[in-house]
Amino acid sequence: MLPAVTLLLELPGVQQLLTTTPRSVVTDAVRTVIDVARGAPYSAPANDTEWMAAITEQVTVRQLPSLRRLINATGVVLHTNLGRAPLAAAALRAIQDVASGFCNLEYDIATGARGSRHAHCSALIAELTGAEDAMVVNNCAAALVLALNSCADGREAIISRGELVEIGGSFRVPDIMAKSGATLVEVGTTNRTHADDYRRALSPRTGAIVTVHRSNFTLEGFVAAVPPRDLAAIAAEGGVPLIHDFGSGLLLDLAPWGLSGEPTARDAIRAGASLVLMSGDKLLGGPQAGIVAGRADWVGAMRRNPLARALRVDKLTLSALEATLALYRDPARAIAEIPALAMLTAPVAGIAARAEQLAASLRAAGLSASTRAVDATVGGGAFPAARIPSAAVVLEVQDADTAAARLRGARVPVIGRIADGVLLLDLRGVPAELDAELGGLVAGALS
Ligand SMILES: *Cc1c(COP(=O)(O)O)cnc(C)c1O
Repeated sequence: MLPAVTLLLELPGVQQLLTTTPRSVVTDAVRTVIDVARGAPYSAPANDTEWMAAITEQVTVRQLPSLRRLINATGVVLHTNLGRAPLAAAALRAIQDVASGFCNLEYDIATGARGSRHAHCSALIAELTGAEDAMVVNNCAAALVLALNSCADGREAIISRGELVEIGGSFRVPDIMAKSGATLVEVGTTNRTHADDYRRALSPRTGAIVTVHRSNFTLEGFVAAVPPRDLAAIAAEGGVPLIHDFGSGLLLDLAPWGLSGEPTARDAIRAGASLVLMSGDKLLGGPQAGIVAGRADWVGAMRRNPLARALRVDKLTLSALEATLALYRDPARAIAEIPALAMLTAPVAGIAARAEQLAASLRAAGLSASTRAVDATVGGGAFPAARIPSAAVVLEVQDADTAAARLRGARVPVIGRIADGVLLLDLRGVPAELDAELGGLVAGALS
């Protein structure tokens, strides 16, 4: 015989809970616990203490936010599923400062008149990329839709068949282009596209030439592509803009840290693209945003496009982005203070030492743990072939899948990676100040 809801609500422990928790949450938790007990009568709580424990657990689960912080021990630093770039402290302070009260989002402080939200960040982006003008929209996909719609609505957009790619989950270049109102004109082949392929496709109907950076794959072997500089010249011959969907948002040359071969935004502008599009939350290391840098006339056309209203960014994004961008004025500071860059450039020796320490603390807690040299990756659509030396704690467990599930179920979920049947915690994407917490979570979940 199961107790009634009203009876359980009378328990002193539940009465105590009600002083801190909304009544609806507690009542729903009690109902759920009774329903669960009805479904599994043999494991139903047997006394008040057990009922209380089940109710407390339900109340906790119900109050967990849907969007939660977690520890990224996957070794993929800019993991799209895990929120891409963590924000710099300066960006968090800017959000706090701007969003906790009112701000000049669309207000010109000098004149007291209405201002434009598209004015924020523009000068800073122009300064950092060498572009004439810039604007910010919701993400890079939005930037591509807006750029195409502004340049080639009802006209043709020429793109190489080698660049009709899928970037991630729901971003397929041909689908996005079709939605922008431009008609896709495919040229070349999957592996080889030549300057003449573009030239032959130019016509009075052409609205733009588009080139999309190979963010998440490499093409090797019998391949040919037209570099952006040559494409810019062809676009100029045809009197149309070159839109360069550049993706990563790399603003600094990371070659000194072993990450080479990708252009920076400044390179892309210098090569002559009319519009360069990039994400704010990939290698740039800021909030989700679509950054457009390029020629003043084309950026102006994008700003005036009514669609810009639907794709606009909010003040939280703008404040975080501006603070992140400002760090780039001093490259050493950007590397040190922008978490994505700090993680990608951290010397491997330090990471290995941290892994040793963490493994030792887990052994002291009774777990079987060792360390291993591994390769981390950048993720987030940049340097797809780069392998970054890293170090991982190897958790020697009976069943890696079960252990991984337990780690995900921790109070702060820990996401590791399984390789060759063992569970690894790659520390490249774990800030050092989280090591102690990580140790506690792993020990708690696995012992
Ligand atoms: C990541 C990426 C996009 C999509 O960017 P979002 O900011 O996620 O919309 C578009 N183009 C390229 C080349 C990319 O790498």
